[in-house]
Amino acid sequence: MLKDTDRIFRNLYGDESFNLSNALNRGDWKDTKEIIAKGKEWIIDQVKKSELRGRGGAGFPTGMKWSFAPKEPTTDRPHYLVINADESEPGTCKDRDILRYEPQKLIEGSLIAAYAVGAKACYVYIRGEYVNEGKVLQQAIDEAYEKNLIGKNAAGSGWDFDMYIHFGAGAYICGEETALLESLEGNKGQPRLKPPFPALVGLYGCPTIVNNVETIAVVPTILRRGPEWFASFGRPKNRGTKIFCISGNVVNPCNVEEEMSIPLKELIETHAGGVIGGWDNLQAVIPGGSSMPLLPKKVCDNILMDFDALVEAKSGMGTAGIVVIDKSQDIVSCISRISRFYKHESCGQCTPCREGSGWLWRMMERINRGEAEIHEIDMLLEVTKQIEGHTICAFGEASAWPVQGLLRHFREQMEEKCSNLANRKIA
Ligand code: SF4
Repeated sequence: MLKDTDRIFRNLYGDESFNLSNALNRGDWKDTKEIIAKGKEWIIDQVKKSELRGRGGAGFPTGMKWSFAPKEPTTDRPHYLVINADESEPGTCKDRDILRYEPQKLIEGSLIAAYAVGAKACYVYIRGEYVNEGKVLQQAIDEAYEKNLIGKNAAGSGWDFDMYIHFGAGAYICGEETALLESLEGNKGQPRLKPPFPALVGLYGCPTIVNNVETIAVVPTILRRGPEWFASFGRPKNRGTKIFCISGNVVNPCNVEEEMSIPLKELIETHAGGVIGGWDNLQAVIPGGSSMPLLPKKVCDNILMDFDALVEAKSGMGTAGIVVIDKSQDIVSCISRISRFYKHESCGQCTPCREGSGWLWRMMERINRGEAEIHEIDMLLEVTKQIEGHTICAFGEASAWPVQGLLRHFREQMEEKCSNLANRKIA
């Protein structure tokens, strides 16, 4: 279990105020000027050495992403830093707690990241429903301006840095980085075709680095305590500490910062009070937010919570939003509800996603209600394959994977619902 002294987020539960004086007491903004004085290359190199991977879902190495920004901004093409705070993945609520209880970590991390990638302006794209979190963040930004931690000559570093908040309007797809940029520009929030990637052609056509809230908020501590310290947690290529969100049929749903690669069972039993009714009452777990394929109990017994272990088990770490499903739940109905969500949130640009997500939901509903023939289960799998890999953005996979996970591990339950129909026909 992670020692308290190794926790980056000391105020994750809001025991203290988020205000600047408390944040300073917790160690935020300590030697920021000296860190920046070591230069861009040093900062990027340290982040690379820490093996920090993006905490928003894709898990891309952060230091490498920063190194993609052109070396020097030109007057007609300034660089931007964009913070993705559009936390909309069902089962995920970690960035919310950083925003409302530890905003100074995000602000300090943003200054350091912006300096490293040559950006003087940072936009925080926050989901519209996070009204209170947005207000807290704005207060924290105002306090940082008052103390000259950001603004002209930010924290005495010689770097000018401004930070702005932009509220989204409630579309899930705006969490996809290029849809986010479109929305920020005032356009319809629809993903762009890639390449080019935002590091070269991003906001207003300029080089832009987009990072998740948690990714940026851990950077100052990594630089202060050293990349070796951060990389001492977890397995190779899966390093560091991580905030896990545990919800569903557990005794104490919670957010908790833990070591990467912790066994899932230990995580749930130590921090969330265990599965309701005990571990044997577990049916399945969605390990990384609603878009990741579920894992049945027999896989959950020994699985480690990190990027590689979950990919090996044909699922994914995603946002680390862990949804626990016990045996009292109708698993087909659970996934059918997720299919409805993805059908509703498709932006509609690509035919396989726009039409396919609706197909998936309607077929899942038919199966769930016991109105489908048994051969339709294979047809359902075929529809997921027609979507996966045939769309502009990863939303196609997000809609297909939950259904594929269900087919992989709970086909029997689906067939049972269909055979009930056959029995009714005979009767
Ligand atoms: Fe839009 Fe879906 Fe295509 Fe993504 S995959 S661009 S959400 S239609």
